[in-house]
Amino acid sequence: MNVLQKQQINNDAIMPLTSAYDPWDPIRSLPQYGGHRLTSVEMTVSNLCNMRCEHCAVGDTLVLKEPEKVPLQLMLQRLDEVEALETISITGGEPSFSDKTVRDYMVPLLQYARNRGIRSQINSNVTLPYSRYERLAPYLDVMHISFNYTSAEEFHAIGFAKSGHEVPLKAAAKLYETMIDNARRLSEAGVLVSAESMINYRTHRKMHEIHQLIVEMGCTRHEVHPMYPSSFARDLPMITRDDMLNAIELLLKHRNQSVWMLFGTLPFYHCSENETERALLKRLAAEPNVTVRNDPDGRNRLNVNLFTGEVFVTDFSDVPSFGNMKQMKLDDLFKRWLSHPLAKSVNCHCPAVSCCGPNLLVKDMYYKDVDFLKRKAILE
Ligand code: SF4
Repeated sequence: MNVLQKQQINNDAIMPLTSAYDPWDPIRSLPQYGGHRLTSVEMTVSNLCNMRCEHCAVGDTLVLKEPEKVPLQLMLQRLDEVEALETISITGGEPSFSDKTVRDYMVPLLQYARNRGIRSQINSNVTLPYSRYERLAPYLDVMHISFNYTSAEEFHAIGFAKSGHEVPLKAAAKLYETMIDNARRLSEAGVLVSAESMINYRTHRKMHEIHQLIVEMGCTRHEVHPMYPSSFARDLPMITRDDMLNAIELLLKHRNQSVWMLFGTLPFYHCSENETERALLKRLAAEPNVTVRNDPDGRNRLNVNLFTGEVFVTDFSDVPSFGNMKQMKLDDLFKRWLSHPLAKSVNCHCPAVSCCGPNLLVKDMYYKDVDFLKRKAILE
């Protein structure tokens, strides 16, 4: 019996994704396997996109025409070999930009996940016609969208900031309406629509207004991450950690508690000497329907570029590829990454506060000289 057969389970019996069960959180591997384990594979299936967002983490890689991808059968084989696989994510560009990619890669990958009883996520801007997403919805668990706007005007300013030519407001407003409509329809079709907002120089004072619109769109989850200056977004103005903290307080004050609020890549840690930051983490841990997800990148997840087969720690990291799935199994590549000095530098764990260390970008930005392996959570 192969791995797929062993893990095939009745989909009706699958645990619902809620604030009590988030299989993308790498902390779950530590008690189960006694260390980090590859449970999640992200695949970049497109470098095409109809938008050019100001904050796009992979904006540098977007193209107008893309090369052939590695054969689907090889990708499926590599997924099948991942023994502890629990989740897959499909990302881009706009992964559904090409109808052919939807048909020949995305639908089969989602069907594979569904048959194996593992969970799936697509990262999309959902601005294309609903028919594109309708084909994916029956097999999909999470549709992850970016939502950083309070109006069509803001969507226009942010979503086409890097287009290099004038995009009429009217055209952008039409996409904005389509996005909202698609998010509603996907929610109604039973997909968990998770809207991600970034805390940045534009949004930090109006996160509560953005949240309200996300609730009105029928999203089940609001995902919130501070924005850091990675590649394409490196020239954007930065806000302070205090600004980030205040934005989170603002959200907590106004949020709708029926919507799961998931925070990720926060620059705050329980081992910090900063009491206010520790107090915020304590509050987040006690809030109903709020979770703080540990960073999956390189802890339980790898990114596979489906054009080259190269494997990365994330789709936007400055860390170069450490191998190719055409030559190696993903479990073996993951072991190779865990022995990398960068992976080791953030491999701390404080079980009392369910933390397994900082994100690499955050460490580099705020904690360059801090040795997290020598720190411990401060328990009050
Ligand atoms: S796991 Fe690491 S980052 Fe988290 S509280 Fe402990 S020492 Fe700090």
